[in-house]
Amino acid sequence: MSDKYDVVVIGSGPAGYVAAIRAAQLGLQVACIEKWKNNEGVGVNGGTCLNVGCIPSKALLDSSYKYHEAAEGLAVHGISTKGVEMDIAAMLGRKDKIVKQLTGGIAGLFKANGVTALYGMGKLLAGKKVELTDNSGVVSVIEAENVILASGSLPIAIPVAPVDNDLILDSTGALELGEVPKRLGVIGAGVIGLELGSVWGRLGSKVVLLEALDDFLAIMDKAIAKESKKIFTKQGLDIRLGARVTGTQIKGREVEVTYKTTAGEELKESFDKLIVCVGRRPFTQGLLAPDSGVDIDDRGSVYVNEFCATNAPGVYAVGDLVRGPMLAHKGSEEGVMVAERIAGHKAQMNYDIVPNVIYTHPEVASVGQTEEQVKAAGEPYNVGTFPFAASGRALAANDTDGMVKIIAHADTDRILGCHIVGPSAADLTQQVAIAMEFGSSAEDLGMTVFGHPTLSEAVHEAALAVNGAAIHIANRKRR
Ligand code: FAD
Ligand code: AMP
Repeated sequence: MSDKYDVVVIGSGPAGYVAAIRAAQLGLQVACIEKWKNNEGVGVNGGTCLNVGCIPSKALLDSSYKYHEAAEGLAVHGISTKGVEMDIAAMLGRKDKIVKQLTGGIAGLFKANGVTALYGMGKLLAGKKVELTDNSGVVSVIEAENVILASGSLPIAIPVAPVDNDLILDSTGALELGEVPKRLGVIGAGVIGLELGSVWGRLGSKVVLLEALDDFLAIMDKAIAKESKKIFTKQGLDIRLGARVTGTQIKGREVEVTYKTTAGEELKESFDKLIVCVGRRPFTQGLLAPDSGVDIDDRGSVYVNEFCATNAPGVYAVGDLVRGPMLAHKGSEEGVMVAERIAGHKAQMNYDIVPNVIYTHPEVASVGQTEEQVKAAGEPYNVGTFPFAASGRALAANDTDGMVKIIAHADTDRILGCHIVGPSAADLTQQVAIAMEFGSSAEDLGMTVFGHPTLSEAVHEAALAVNGAAIHIANRKRR
């Protein structure tokens, strides 16, 4: 272990490990410090995303979807499936195996790229020094030319529903339930609440989501949010809006939740398990010495400029720790940008084109501006939509819920946003994200040849519909 590095990264989630690998690729001497330990007490990389976030949640979403399809969704295809059974232990075991494989993979990538992996707690001192308290308690100080802070985030705790990891769980506990609760309450109908609610709902829980806001998915495009709510409600998710949880009481083996409606009514509901999914907050505990020179903003995020530089020269911060959406890919791109800038490249990141996905079925995905944002900015625009019910491929798959919506500037036809609820919405939205990155117009997308029959034809048709030229649906306006 060298005692002076070009770059020391604190945190090895998707922001930190990607920064470390990219910096090493560019010829820099890099160390990455990680404090996470697995169930056996061994230090592991990958952060929230790989250990208790994106990956394990998607593993359970996929398993639960397959179960649900096998149990209820195949008769329409002429396949009868009697006696479908679930094995929760096997499902959780599969998820754990995937996590182990991927976190181990990061250690392998570090090795292959020459990144020094250090396990323990990192603290930024003044003058770009980093104090490492390793997992056996030994303290040392490492010098660095540059430090990248990537300590991520933690679930927000609310005093009205204290997590006991028995009856009241956070998102991490909700990935470990050993049996399917009959009645499952979820506080917060945001991204994580909807995903975890879907997992257990598909496996048989009666799921109630209590959401304080009156609007469903308030930051999403309104039309897509409305369509999504309709679909999820049809699936059996009981989504109660304008329902602010104000208290919980453990009564034997159940949790009684008190919530207040927007109309001021106080209601109660009992659950076998309750999951708290009210968002995440940046994690800075123990990260910064008082004289580190790094500022924290009033939301608890480390303050950075558009290039992720903090107020302390040579110190950068990326990922959930800093402003912007708490998404793995946003942090990774910031990590790449910072590594490249440290190496002397003129890298920058396009914050206008960061896709956002909810991995329910169907998925809800978006990139760019919503119609409401475009309207509020006073820009003239055109909208094209296409329902999956009119897609041959979606019909063939019996997966016709949802629609594609594309918004383009009325004068330039440049695509401003794409919002999809529907099968494979995440991957379809990514196609439009690529087009947007290249400054595509709706017409450009419309002139692109799409394979038939594909779900992506729905994107093609929505792009054509922007200018009244959709073929497989009546156009709102004529060309
Ligand atoms: P983290 O992944 O939180 O990693 C930070 C790391 O830093 C941790 O390993 C932590 O132990 C370590 N650390 C902290 N302080 C120190 C210190 N002082 N010393 C050493 N190490 C330290 N995002 C998506 O884009 N797509 C999804 O599908 C998705 N699904 C999610 C599902 C769930 C259930 C949850 C909870 C989150 C999900 N997210 C998803 C969000 C995603 O996980 C985060 O945006 C992402 O992990 C943030 O990356 P990060 O590297 O900034 O931080
Ligand atoms: P997200 O930010 O996508 O993780 O979603 C978290 C959701 O939790 C937001 O929509 C919040 O409005 C909601 N929320 C926060 N506190 C409460 C509460 N006490 N009761 C119900 N919903 C809440």
